[in-house]
Amino acid sequence: MGDRTVLTTCPRDCYDACGIEVALRADGAIRHVRGDPNHPVSRGRLCAKCTAAYNGVFLDPRARLTTPLIAGRAATWDEALGHIARRLTAILDDPAAGSHTILNAHYTGTDAALGYGFGQRFMRTLGAREVDPDTICNKAGHVALEYLYGTSEDGFDPRTAADARCIMVWGANPSTSAPHQHEHWLSEAPGAVIVVDPIRTETALTADLHLQPFPGSDAALAFALGHVIVRDHLHDVELLARHTIGWPDLEPIVSRCTPQWGEETTGVPAPDIEQAAHLYGARPSLLWLGQGFQRQPRGGNAIRAVAQLAAISGNLGRPGAGVLYLNGSDSRGIDWDYLTAAGLPDHSPAPISHMDLADWLEDPARTRALIAWNINPAASNPQQARLRRALARPDLFTVAIDLFPTDTTDLADVVLPAASFLECDDLVTSYFDITLSAQVKAAEPPGDALPNTEIFRRLASAMGMTAPALHESDREVIDRLLQRAHLNLSFEDLARRGTVQVTPEPAVQFADLRFPTPSGHVELASEQAHADGHPRIPEPHADPRPCGGRLRLLTPASRWFLNASFSNEPRLERRRGPATVTLHPRDARDRGLTAGDSAVLRSEIGEITLTVALSADVPRGVALAPKGRWPRLEPQGANVNVLNPGIAADMGASTSVHGVEVTVTAVSAPPPAISRAPDGDPRAGTPDAA
Ligand code: SF4
Repeated sequence: MGDRTVLTTCPRDCYDACGIEVALRADGAIRHVRGDPNHPVSRGRLCAKCTAAYNGVFLDPRARLTTPLIAGRAATWDEALGHIARRLTAILDDPAAGSHTILNAHYTGTDAALGYGFGQRFMRTLGAREVDPDTICNKAGHVALEYLYGTSEDGFDPRTAADARCIMVWGANPSTSAPHQHEHWLSEAPGAVIVVDPIRTETALTADLHLQPFPGSDAALAFALGHVIVRDHLHDVELLARHTIGWPDLEPIVSRCTPQWGEETTGVPAPDIEQAAHLYGARPSLLWLGQGFQRQPRGGNAIRAVAQLAAISGNLGRPGAGVLYLNGSDSRGIDWDYLTAAGLPDHSPAPISHMDLADWLEDPARTRALIAWNINPAASNPQQARLRRALARPDLFTVAIDLFPTDTTDLADVVLPAASFLECDDLVTSYFDITLSAQVKAAEPPGDALPNTEIFRRLASAMGMTAPALHESDREVIDRLLQRAHLNLSFEDLARRGTVQVTPEPAVQFADLRFPTPSGHVELASEQAHADGHPRIPEPHADPRPCGGRLRLLTPASRWFLNASFSNEPRLERRRGPATVTLHPRDARDRGLTAGDSAVLRSEIGEITLTVALSADVPRGVALAPKGRWPRLEPQGANVNVLNPGIAADMGASTSVHGVEVTVTAVSAPPPAISRAPDGDPRAGTPDAA
């Protein structure tokens, strides 16, 4: 008795944006954090990882950062901010350095609008060099869809699934990365479900049809589907003639990509290619483009090839049809320019890619300081061993802002404690549903922790920056964002309702068949792509299969982590067990491995020992080792990113992490600390297990 409840929203980097009910004791302390029973997505239940963490480490002051730290020692905010200001000012004043040698690394530690975006006002004014956030995740897909449709962030309205005869989920695993959309939206949709994924995931198991292409062959598979759609006259001749550019160039290539060729190239049986093409080609159909299959060496080409199926089949501009990569906050009327810039002059130089971060951090001429917020690059980035060594450079000044001690805060000169989403107001825009939600403060932050926004206001003050936009209060920013969204909503209205749909009826994507490309058409052939050094039209490409006994390493999300969040939640430790590599039983047998053995995975830049698991859900030739663990909590002080050389994909200088190849061999002795001492090219002399 005496409890009151607060409705809020989960701001994680997750499609679901669950509604949350926080029960408070009479003294204001949080009793528990649960799914809001009246929320259309969460329906009273959060995912297992958030249930554990939001009621565990998020509420445990012993697990949280509660005071600023300078060189590991507790400090006051004034001391920490004064120290940062002195160090940054010295860099600004040094003619051999300057603001362009201060790197600004941030991403989706929170996806709420202010927590994600407001700090950019400070960074622009400072003139720090941004590490392009999406290059660690999904930039290739964004670039590819811009070429094709002119937008990557105006997806279909999920409510339109009620009208769809088919939903094709390509390269996404909602059972892990959108668990409520998997459990409710996908299972309740009346149409047939096709899943395209190299792994037989839980999503694939519940689908009507599962296509299992070898990683890196998605573009070839898409062309084979396109062949059947055209051969069997399921294509939309009028749409192709009136609303696309490049079909005459593309059609002859599509006509060569028969299902038999598709089977030989991708490993998907020709009858399954035929069936998928007929299901998807029977309009209207939805196409959900996941992010996994664009993390390939030619991931941008793959996205173009798959996404163009919607245009070929006429699955555009009608209820129940369309494509979704992400729904950006613009579709909720969130004024991103105001939030992140507010008219401030932008002194930032050209950004760099996360694929190059280790290079930059190693080089004192290019990098004097790093400010890392909403991100844990020491755990998440490629070139892990090099990057960690570079972060430890004595002359590099590093500031890390986080809720918890992490691998990155361990290596930082100054650590600033951040408030969690339970401790500040904000706005949340799901990147699946076209909704707007309130993140509502339910409790005070522990100790001296502060919201990101307040940290950046104080940093601006410490640096002597006086522009009013740097000092707007959260409430002013939220009110202005809501006014500019023209939804006739105050924050109190939104907080009361939790989540609102932006339009009462499902929106029809590209309803007028006008596309925000240079031509206004779907650009199957893109002059802009060509000018940027890419093929004018996508190619039916498949990566060469690994040889020399190597396996293709896939490192997707696990249900127990969210990117680099939740690794420190003890209640999840037993459930996730030790770090594993899952192999097809025959691949394991060929290597003399059985379940529970230790195996060494080696790439050209590093090695790690993992526990072997066996499953025929993983195809031959693939090693599956989910991401998300914190090196500081692993016995070897490393995670699978120690294997990733950080080769950029074909577009957007984006990650190609799912193109990494490894050898997998048995070990009979405890492994050396290989992340710190790679031993040359481990591929030499590896027996071919084929
Ligand atoms: S991470 Fe996703 S599934 Fe889990 S509570 Fe948050 S929004 Fe819901």
